[in-house]
Amino acid sequence: MADDLLKFVSIDQKTPAKREAKERRLDFSEIYAEYDPVAAKDQASRCSQCGVPFCHIHCPLGNNIPDWLKLTAEGRLEDAYEMASATNNMPEICGRICPQDRLCEGNCVIEKDFESVTIGSVEKYIADTAWEKGWIKPIKPLAERPETVGIIGAGPAGLAAAEQMREAGFQVHVYDRYDRAGGLLIYGIPGFKLEKDVVGRRTGRLEQSGITFHLDFEVGREETLADLREKHDCLLIATGVYRSRGLKAPGVGLGNIREALDYLIASNRKGFGDKVTEFDDGTLDAKGKNVVVIGGGDTAMDCVRTAVRQGAKSVKCLYRRDRENMPGSAREVKNAEEEGVEFVWLAGPEAFVGDDTVSGVRAYRMRLGVADATGRQAPEPVPDSGFTLDCDLAILALGFEPEDLPALFGAPELRVSRWGTVTVDHQNLMTNLDGVFAAGDIVRGASLVVWAIRDGRDAATSMIKYLNQKAQAATLAAE
Ligand code: FAD
Ligand code: SF4
Ligand code: SF4
Repeated sequence: MADDLLKFVSIDQKTPAKREAKERRLDFSEIYAEYDPVAAKDQASRCSQCGVPFCHIHCPLGNNIPDWLKLTAEGRLEDAYEMASATNNMPEICGRICPQDRLCEGNCVIEKDFESVTIGSVEKYIADTAWEKGWIKPIKPLAERPETVGIIGAGPAGLAAAEQMREAGFQVHVYDRYDRAGGLLIYGIPGFKLEKDVVGRRTGRLEQSGITFHLDFEVGREETLADLREKHDCLLIATGVYRSRGLKAPGVGLGNIREALDYLIASNRKGFGDKVTEFDDGTLDAKGKNVVVIGGGDTAMDCVRTAVRQGAKSVKCLYRRDRENMPGSAREVKNAEEEGVEFVWLAGPEAFVGDDTVSGVRAYRMRLGVADATGRQAPEPVPDSGFTLDCDLAILALGFEPEDLPALFGAPELRVSRWGTVTVDHQNLMTNLDGVFAAGDIVRGASLVVWAIRDGRDAATSMIKYLNQKAQAATLAAE
């Protein structure tokens, strides 16, 4: 084994420096610094190069983690980037926002009693360095192909597929209803987790690679699915999930009770300097308000931390289970607490009170009952445990469901599941419509960026196969 590795015994785990909470509460910039070259090398050298690397098995992209850690430890960063980018279209984005504690790092089996290798931070360092050094260039396909591919949705699934298809030489058109490409990377996830220029340089490179973006183009409004099928040799649906799960409680219709995504989109748009009028009548700002966010996932965490940065008077997160059973990442809960968010665990909303606008959330205590079929304990209200929280802005972050895509696309023939997700053949991600594939959250339901990238790549592999078979059949027919 090279001298550069197996240093977990002599070098402690060190994550990149984190800005002080009192400083980061004031802006939307990322909170973690970058490793310096020595720290990156040191941390990569802690890897013990396991024969069976569980980190790799638990990375949805199957990243060759020990290999790029070894190259980093040896100071061969350009090679490390080449290897990291062979399996991941956005290593610097995953390095920032993957819940590593549940994926690669949570499964790093370095040795008992030693903390995991900081895989995500090293991945981010490798890719950020590649950008800084100019190693990342626009795509130049070896040969151009005449077939065109239409991709609906410029989120991580659509973008990963677009890149793979362009690499293979196809003419790629990406359609998105928003005015900027990136999907939830741009308008969902706040800048303190992922700064927007990090996303912009990726989409910019795709544009420079010859991919055509049709923005402000809503499929169903501008053109139907059938129109796009006419225009392109194959299509990918990668539209994500956007319908917020509702809450049934007295008073839920009062003013200043808003959905999480509206709140986050408005905040992200303001960060770009946009004038936000379509769904913000001026109330979607937490400044000076008592904010109560209901929910316990990553979206709820992003809302509470956004409210802190907007200058809220107080920010509380109401969640019906306890800390251990929260779906949001433990790291983000800790960051939120440091920034002054108060978590009200084991509490559920009973009613919203107020005249026209909300002034309080009446809640009751919950306890965890017997485990259901999935092994999760169901929360149940504790009798006579009611209490009220002051609230001038309530944000509902209870998860997302797909929109009614067949209706939206003017395509009743498109098959969807009873949850509204697009049904695909899991062998090749093709829908019931010939040449129409689907990937990302619209197939899985709300998931993770890294899974969307994986699906986008898999869909591209299938689309390339499909187009090759079609080209072969046309050649044979012509002979
Ligand atoms: P999306 O990113 O949703 O992109 C879909 C695109 O399709 C959008 O740009 C949309 O405008 C477009 N579109 C939709 N309908 C149409 C139409 N009719 N015509 C044209 N275009 C259309 N994951 C993580 O891994 N880490 C995190 O920290 C994290 N934080 C999150 C925070 C929030 C607030 C949210 C909401 C999600 C978060 N996620 C996180 C989940 C992650 O963002 C998604 O799983 C991922 O973005 C899904 O990618 P996608 O490409 O399938 O869809
Ligand atoms: Fe870990 Fe995500 Fe990177 Fe995979 S893509 S190595 S899970 S940070
Ligand atoms: Fe290295 Fe940890 Fe992966 Fe083992 S599991 S190869 S120690 S990163």
